[in-house]
Amino acid sequence: MSQASIVEFVRELYQTNDFIPLHAPKFDGNEQKYVLETIQSTFVSSVGKFVDEFEKKIESYTGSAKAVATVNGTAALHASLYMAGVQHGDFVITQALTFVATCNALYHMGAEPIFVDVSPISLGLCPKAVDEFLTQHAIVTDTGCMHKQTKRPIRAVVPMHTFGHPVELDELIAVCRKWNLTLVEDAAESLGSFYKGKHTGTLGDFGAVSFNGNKIITTGGGGMVLCKTAELGAHTKHVTTTAKVPHPYEFYHDEAGFNYRMPNLNAALGCAQMEVLEQYLIEKRELASRYQDFFAKGDFKFVVEPEYAMSNYWLNAVICPSAQARDTLLKQTNESGVMTRPIWQLMHRLPMFKNAPRGELTQSEHIEMHLINLPSSPISI
Ligand SMILES: *Cc1c(COP(=O)(O)O)cnc(C)c1O
Repeated sequence: MSQASIVEFVRELYQTNDFIPLHAPKFDGNEQKYVLETIQSTFVSSVGKFVDEFEKKIESYTGSAKAVATVNGTAALHASLYMAGVQHGDFVITQALTFVATCNALYHMGAEPIFVDVSPISLGLCPKAVDEFLTQHAIVTDTGCMHKQTKRPIRAVVPMHTFGHPVELDELIAVCRKWNLTLVEDAAESLGSFYKGKHTGTLGDFGAVSFNGNKIITTGGGGMVLCKTAELGAHTKHVTTTAKVPHPYEFYHDEAGFNYRMPNLNAALGCAQMEVLEQYLIEKRELASRYQDFFAKGDFKFVVEPEYAMSNYWLNAVICPSAQARDTLLKQTNESGVMTRPIWQLMHRLPMFKNAPRGELTQSEHIEMHLINLPSSPISI
């Protein structure tokens, strides 16, 4: 299979000779109507019916006990880690193969990442690798899990469902129980992805979703914390909205809170986008299946959902036979107006995380060198 035939195939999928982006938002539902309604009502900011409505829609779709809307996915992660009790000086186990926001959120809690390898099946955090790292480097004490060498607490595990493909959650939950760790799912990319019938982000203590412009649905910018219980949900809402104690006119705040609330204007967009999510999921599955057929012959390996999961196929990906084939494909496609992208550089290569402890990262390094993301906007079918 030649790189040129890939360009041709993508052009055929999208039926256009124009530039093809990696993932473009689509507003062909009630977006204009709802957004206009917020403007006309003047309730564009922190008060308004769409925030509540959007949270309820996400709760009923994901099965989360309480969903809390935030300004973006990074804020949702930050609030999740705060709620999970991550403290200054703690370690948090995560994958090196992720978008930088995962690590920024824990860094701004005063914590430091520990990088563990990903599974070749999910491209997300590998439960076995986590257990092996902990067996070698940690002990469980009266106060929780401790990193032996530094005597610092290891507080939480943050897996990321890469491109929407759910990680092996049952196994990861078992590892977290064994080592007394809190599980926070970075579900930024996985709205619409299910693990054994359960929505990603609802199996851990907290899950963080993103509605950035390139995600499966968008609110312009936005995020959501999925909380395990109504009580944790109420506290999360409180702390993400300045922790003000309700009173007709007094200002009293009982905790150092965040101003992370999602504006009503953005939530209006979210409500309209939730109405078309199911349709996008169908279109994206169809797109993925066409890519899968196309790549079935040849030595480029299309990334498919793990057998235990129903993935949203947020970003389609292919593993190239060599680093050189990857570079050629990147160059050819982008020069031909078909946008493709390499995966993120591994987190331990970035200056702020270069000294973080890490296990073996064989799979992460292989994927980093060989993977390319392909155009993934929903197609008309
Ligand atoms: C998009 C994304 C985020 C952050 O979401 P924002 O809404 O852009 O802040 C976090 N983690 C991962 C893995 C993401 O892809």
